[in-house]
Amino acid sequence: MKLSGDWLEHPGTQALCAVLASEGHRILFVGGCVRNALMGRAVSDIDMATDAPPGEVMRLAEEAGFKVVPTGIDHGTVTVIAGGAGHEVTTFRRDVSTDGRRATVAFSTEIAEDAARRDFTMNALYAAPSGEVIDPLGGLDDLLARRVRFVGEASTRIREDYLRILRFFRFYAVYGDPAQGIDAEGLAACAALAEGLASLSAERVTHELRRLLAAPDPAPALAAMQASGILSRILPGADPKPIAPLVHLETAPRWQRRLAVLGGDTGALRLSRAEAAELSHLQAEIGSTLTPAALGWKLGPVPAEDVILARAALFEQPLPPGWAAEIARGAAAQCPIAAADLMPALQGAALGERLRALESRWLASDLTATKGDLLS
Ligand code: ATP
Ligand code: MG
Repeated sequence: MKLSGDWLEHPGTQALCAVLASEGHRILFVGGCVRNALMGRAVSDIDMATDAPPGEVMRLAEEAGFKVVPTGIDHGTVTVIAGGAGHEVTTFRRDVSTDGRRATVAFSTEIAEDAARRDFTMNALYAAPSGEVIDPLGGLDDLLARRVRFVGEASTRIREDYLRILRFFRFYAVYGDPAQGIDAEGLAACAALAEGLASLSAERVTHELRRLLAAPDPAPALAAMQASGILSRILPGADPKPIAPLVHLETAPRWQRRLAVLGGDTGALRLSRAEAAELSHLQAEIGSTLTPAALGWKLGPVPAEDVILARAALFEQPLPPGWAAEIARGAAAQCPIAAADLMPALQGAALGERLRALESRWLASDLTATKGDLLS
């Protein structure tokens, strides 16, 4: 099997391959770029694997005039800028020891060792610069059948790195086939080893959850996470039931909207200040009675749509008629009352309070009350 793609045929990329090959090294594409190209999906970043030691990769690439950044030189990764794109070139590795979070690695010249330490069979696919696919572990069949399976024994692989529990559900959400269901051995191992999640940093858990929630349809993965006791460990009290109806109403995924609908205690996540504020605004307005137009004025068009879709999913209600046009009407509207209308009679704190009260009345009128109505 041969793969193709603009990124693969790019002269810069091919030149980088030629430089390593000219010294007799093996240089291969690996991971997401091979997987996604084989599935006909967009390729976002280029990961490569080589039998050349990292110092040798740097030397050869620099001598050939490429810009090289030693992004992770200790674990064998250097980034080579070629044709305007970054190429993460990592020397073949095998694990020497693991502790559930980090691995101590040794460099290797064997592709079989490099493949064996990867997480899922669909992520252990390689391609030569010609596009010829190299499949040391039979990952191609799994990929074509959209089966997310651990390389080797699932429970062993999870004990080496508990992040793989969350990656398992994320890859199932993005690449799996919900009609076949999630891999039973993998799911059982995740359930049995769920306690290990406690050893992961909040940043890594949050990063995985964001990416899982951004999948086109995360509902089947979230249901499996709940059934196996994983979801309640990272988001206690979350309920994935409304996610399927939400996805049905959406035109595009938004992880923030899905997180607001999941609910649960986000205390163990590491959200940015802006993300946390957005989430609490969404959740407050999901429970409010503001109309689509009022939401459009108060929140802006994107969060207003989030609230309308979330309410429909959570309360099992149809979408309000004309909601999108109503949000747009609100987003373009201007409150008829300004501070100048109340001054000088009111000042300072009293002025602010009165303004907010009149604004609330205007919102409650679905933005129809006039200045006269409000001031009378
Ligand atoms: P994408 O970049 O689209 O998220 P990817 O598969 O390229 O997908 P990366 O995180 O860039 O994901 O990792 C590159 C490759 O490294 C993976 O395809 C996989 O082979 C391996 N890998 C990444 N994380 C792990 C892990 N925790 N355990 C084992 N192998 C991993
Ligand atoms: Mg990648």
